[in-house]
Amino acid sequence: MERLVEQSMEVVNAVLEELHHKQQQLLFTQEKLFVLSKDTLKPVLKQTCRDIAKLMNCDRVEIWLFNEERTELTAENIYDIGSQGDRSGDVLLRSEVPAYFDAIIHKRTLAIDDIATDPAMLGLQERLFEENDHYHSMLDASIVLSWGVGGVLCCLSEEKRHWKAIDKHVLASVADMLAFMFDRLHRLEVEEHLHALAFTDTLTGLDNQHSFNQKVTVKLQELYEGQRGIFLYMVLDQFTDIQGVLGHDGGEQVLLKMAKRLRILFPDPALIARIGFDHFVIFSPVQLSEEKAVAGITEIAEEIRKPMAISGQEVYMTFSYGVSYYPDHVDNAKAGLQAAQVALEAARKKSSRKARGVYQPTMHAFMKENLLSEMNLRKGLDLGQFRLFYQPQVTCDTGEVNGFEALIRWQHPERGLIFPGDFIDLAESTGLITIIGDWVIKEAFAQLSRWQADGKGHLTMSINLSPRHFLHAQLPSYLLECAKQSGVKPQKLMLEITENVALEDHDAVKKRIAELRALGFSIAIDDFGTGYSAFIYLQHFPIQQIKIDRQFISHLDTDANSKAIVKTIVQLGKMLGLRTIAEGVERTEEWHALKEIGCDDIQGFYFSKPLPVDEINAILEIYQDNNKLFLPIEKVRA
Ligand code: C2E
Ligand code: CA
Ligand code: CA
Repeated sequence: MERLVEQSMEVVNAVLEELHHKQQQLLFTQEKLFVLSKDTLKPVLKQTCRDIAKLMNCDRVEIWLFNEERTELTAENIYDIGSQGDRSGDVLLRSEVPAYFDAIIHKRTLAIDDIATDPAMLGLQERLFEENDHYHSMLDASIVLSWGVGGVLCCLSEEKRHWKAIDKHVLASVADMLAFMFDRLHRLEVEEHLHALAFTDTLTGLDNQHSFNQKVTVKLQELYEGQRGIFLYMVLDQFTDIQGVLGHDGGEQVLLKMAKRLRILFPDPALIARIGFDHFVIFSPVQLSEEKAVAGITEIAEEIRKPMAISGQEVYMTFSYGVSYYPDHVDNAKAGLQAAQVALEAARKKSSRKARGVYQPTMHAFMKENLLSEMNLRKGLDLGQFRLFYQPQVTCDTGEVNGFEALIRWQHPERGLIFPGDFIDLAESTGLITIIGDWVIKEAFAQLSRWQADGKGHLTMSINLSPRHFLHAQLPSYLLECAKQSGVKPQKLMLEITENVALEDHDAVKKRIAELRALGFSIAIDDFGTGYSAFIYLQHFPIQQIKIDRQFISHLDTDANSKAIVKTIVQLGKMLGLRTIAEGVERTEEWHALKEIGCDDIQGFYFSKPLPVDEINAILEIYQDNNKLFLPIEKVRA
């Protein structure tokens, strides 16, 4: 008996020793994987295949990756000990070897002692091996990426092998390292892609506002003595009407042609950006006097107004613009654009087409008007004229309502319902936004509390917080107090902030997010993909949700570019373990595309517009079943 125990201990020790040895070798390989980039991928794969061949004592090592639909495998590298050569690019179709595809997708490892007789190898042998190949045994380990099985690592042996548990274990570990490496590379690619996105206008390829401001700031520093800078803010006249006639695609073509013309008419070193739907801005260093510069622009304007051919039609496009000068009117990029915009708005008061204006300090009248509305805003607050409307957020797969986004409205006694687009900016610039935001927080919790009392405690709420409010010293304590008073858990509230928050003081934002997280609140990045490359900070900021901007959703099913972007963002979310939600879903096709992509949640007019609480409650009352409500309900939307 004692002898038997001794013998088995010997075996166990031998196995352990071998395992230890192999793991040490693996660690050595792993180190190389960390210094990986797209450029070094090939040599790293080649070297890795050689290492694996030695490690596993086999004659051929192959690394294959699936396409997205998993209908094809493509060889990333195939190393053959006999010829000492590598090759890549071979393609294997699912239709040729379905049993093999199923096996590697569903099994962690696939050990085949005898290739000739194994059913999983059906069809593979003829397809993969040449006449003088004499492989007897094969061991595969699937490469499991963050989103699922992404490929396979395959070892072939000419000798007949009986694969042991330790072989499988070791190969699976190596496959995991490969997966780690491919994930990392993929993530680098995604980040590059989003980075480009954050600095360009995706439609025209011009700069966006963010990069425009950055570049102008640099240019202003480079101006030499006596040189001035001119800011031009231009808006196409009645563009929505034109789009109505030409359709969406025609409208885009107009914008594209306009961008092209501007590029020709304002060559380097001028800077051009599209900063809003039909809003273009230009900065150009000039040597001229103001008069001459204005004359020059008038001439250029004539050129821009020449007819353009859009799908066989001649389209006449007019536009209006405002001008400001550096250093005469302003001392920085942001102020330059603002002053040019004020000049444009003042000119547009006189004429809605072909308006042009040069900034004058007397244009203060504008500010006065704003002051007036600020007073109104305060009055509205005091008189309790603000309301929250609620838009359902549903699970993408099922349409089940899991919560709502609260959107503010101003019920004005004379002007009727005013949307946030018309007053949030003003509230932000005057600082009233924190008072409004505090009201939103209180109201949101009060509503959650009412739902909770009504047996709908599973519902969550998202609210929008302005950057200024988000960093306000009292925000965390106020949030906590409201949660306590209402008896609702902080976990029920999602705070939506936009990407530009990340532009503020990095450390302050990070600290604030950590504080709020510690209290139990969740944080979402709103309008993701439009802004200021917050994705760079995504890894540093512990947020919980990415909200994909509407602009990518509205052409999701027809525009490959939008689809690629949404996919990328969803994948990024999965990699970082964040939930993704798409906003602005208006059509079934968009919903289906999002389901296919694997987005977690969605919201949009397709399911419901933002509604006052009475209407939301009515829907909940009529249609919910066992506290569950599924949208869209045709009857409700009708
Ligand atoms: P947001 O946070 O991106 O909100 C989404 C906006 O898109 C809402 O406009 C909503 O009504 C609209 N929307 C929702 N689904 C669809 C759709 O399928 N198609 C289209 N075309 N639009 C859809 P709303 O309510 O006018 O709000 C505009 C913005 O005002 C919000 O954009 C948000 O940034 C801001 N806002 C709203 N409420 C508040 C608030 O309480 N505080 C702060 N600071 N900002 C708020
Ligand atoms: Ca929002
Ligand atoms: Ca949004």
